[in-house]
Amino acid sequence: MSTRTVLQEGTAAAEARAAAALTTEELYRELLRRIGEDTMRDGLAETPGRVEKAMAFLTQGYAMDVATVLNEALFEVEYDEMVMVRDIEFYSLCEHHLLPFFGKVHVAYVPSGRVIGLSKIPRLVEMYSRRLQVQERLTTEIADAIVEAIAPQGVGVIVEAQHLCMMMRGVEKQHSATVTSAMRGVFKTQMQTRNEFLSLVRHGGGAEI
Ligand code: ZN
Repeated sequence: MSTRTVLQEGTAAAEARAAAALTTEELYRELLRRIGEDTMRDGLAETPGRVEKAMAFLTQGYAMDVATVLNEALFEVEYDEMVMVRDIEFYSLCEHHLLPFFGKVHVAYVPSGRVIGLSKIPRLVEMYSRRLQVQERLTTEIADAIVEAIAPQGVGVIVEAQHLCMMMRGVEKQHSATVTSAMRGVFKTQMQTRNEFLSLVRHGGGAEI
């Protein structure tokens, strides 16, 4: 180990110790100070405590797991047509800037003997979106969790989102949306299934559950 590495580790350890000596609230107060604010003025006095609570809420997905979220809401059925839950609203934080990205998730699957209770799919979306995320991973995590839970014939997930980190910094036009998709099983291999899904996402329609 070089002297430099030892020094760096020494510094990191010292910083970690110093940070550990502060409460989360004090850390947020320090951040406010560093952006040049008067942390004692009326409007900001309670802000560090509020930010701590807000961040705990927005990242509560870390304390949840698929098994608990889906808790026994898996059912045996004969049904083998497409099941779809459209327009699931979500709010997440991008892991690169800690700024919100938000939009809608559309989830569909074709069962193979088992289905998931319909209310559990939005809960799954919530669990993964209340973590620091990138849109691509959010999309694939939802699809893979469903594959794992019920081994369906296939799953399709589409996420449409707007990213404040791009909009507020002027990187992106205000109204453009980023669209990501994850297709598994028959949604990948059968054009007809995939097209049915895409057309339901675009136009809605009777087969929606
Ligand atoms: Zn970002």
